[in-house]
Amino acid sequence: MAHINQNFLKLPGGYLFPEIGRRVQAFSAQNPPKPLIRLGIGDVTQPLAPAVIDAMGKAVEEMGRKDTFRGYCEEICCAYDFLRFAIQDSYKANGVLIADDEIFVSDGAKSDCGSIGDIFGLDNVVAVCDPVYPVYVDTNAMAGRAGEYDGEKWTELVYLSCTAENGFFPALPKEKIPDLIYICSPNNPTGAAATKEQLQAWVDYANAHGSVILYDSAYEAFITEPGIPHSIFEIGGAKTCAIEFRSFSKTAGFTGTRCAYTVIPKELVRDGVSLNALWNRRQGSKFNGVSYIVQRAAEATFTQEGQKQIKETIGFYLNNAKVIKDGLRRAGLTVYGGVNAPYIWVKTPDGISSWEFFDVLLKKACVVTTPGAGFGPSGEGYVRLTAFGEAEATAEAIDRIREVL
Ligand SMILES: *Cc1c(COP(=O)(O)O)cnc(C)c1O
Repeated sequence: MAHINQNFLKLPGGYLFPEIGRRVQAFSAQNPPKPLIRLGIGDVTQPLAPAVIDAMGKAVEEMGRKDTFRGYCEEICCAYDFLRFAIQDSYKANGVLIADDEIFVSDGAKSDCGSIGDIFGLDNVVAVCDPVYPVYVDTNAMAGRAGEYDGEKWTELVYLSCTAENGFFPALPKEKIPDLIYICSPNNPTGAAATKEQLQAWVDYANAHGSVILYDSAYEAFITEPGIPHSIFEIGGAKTCAIEFRSFSKTAGFTGTRCAYTVIPKELVRDGVSLNALWNRRQGSKFNGVSYIVQRAAEATFTQEGQKQIKETIGFYLNNAKVIKDGLRRAGLTVYGGVNAPYIWVKTPDGISSWEFFDVLLKKACVVTTPGAGFGPSGEGYVRLTAFGEAEATAEAIDRIREVL
């Protein structure tokens, strides 16, 4: 008889978004006084840039001709030269030198963050920020690294609490020393972006203890403040302790198109083995790359025209973020994020719970948000709003919230 992976049975089973859906549906059924505005959405809404569409169209035509047709991508790291070099150049423009065979192109940062555990032993101690993007937690639970879920936390994970007191960036752990450390900056859900000094402390810690930092910079393109690092590799010593995940999803609206990349420096060695070589081996066995059409689309985001167009869209989202942040501040709320990220992290008023505030905003303002408690215990007392909506609806939502507070 076949046996299942019992670790899957330990997962608490998609509580957050199903529960939001249930409450929204129940409220909608009672004929709300106003149409709902959704500011809980974690997906982009604006179409792909014209430069991207042009490049895809050309690539589609090439695929239809015998002399330019392409089958499996035989190149290193599942990436065509043109995309690998474009990514390498974009790092170089930021002062970061990466070898082209350190860049692995994939179909998503979610896949890569979720699959990277394949190359690490099951006995590694895993640390996650709290609150956190659920993928890091759930994939480690599936692998058996998280222990048991006790209704609030996983028994074997190290939770690095990110609160207003520490500027939503975790302090170095004092007790258990983690081997694998997930850091997401700019952060989903808090919108906080780490400074060079903050990251340096973790890089030094990881090098001192032989830990590996798994650095998710999916929102790097939203950074507006000068001096905030866009890459972990801007930090001295990172190449011997860090892996970086990036994605075209939020950068260029590729959530439905699918393309991302992961950088593993060749200097990164554990147990005497190169992690770059291990990941290459893993990808070679479990992954056959991203389509030529999509790699051409991704390449187009690095052209002058492409850059201009994707920056306009990011500017549009960041303007929504500012409308949300300024509006809620004027309404007397305490608000974080929204400057280097499309997420605004809002303290609930009068110490009410995340879910209570979610219900107030839903029932009184007809605005859908995301309760912070769904991202981890330290998310309690917050709700997350996102800047991915339409400008008019976003402004209207904020007006409504101000009226009901
Ligand atoms: C959206 C998001 C990603 C992107 O995932 P893709 O699979 O590339 O679409 C990665 N990390 C975080 C924290 C995200 O919010």
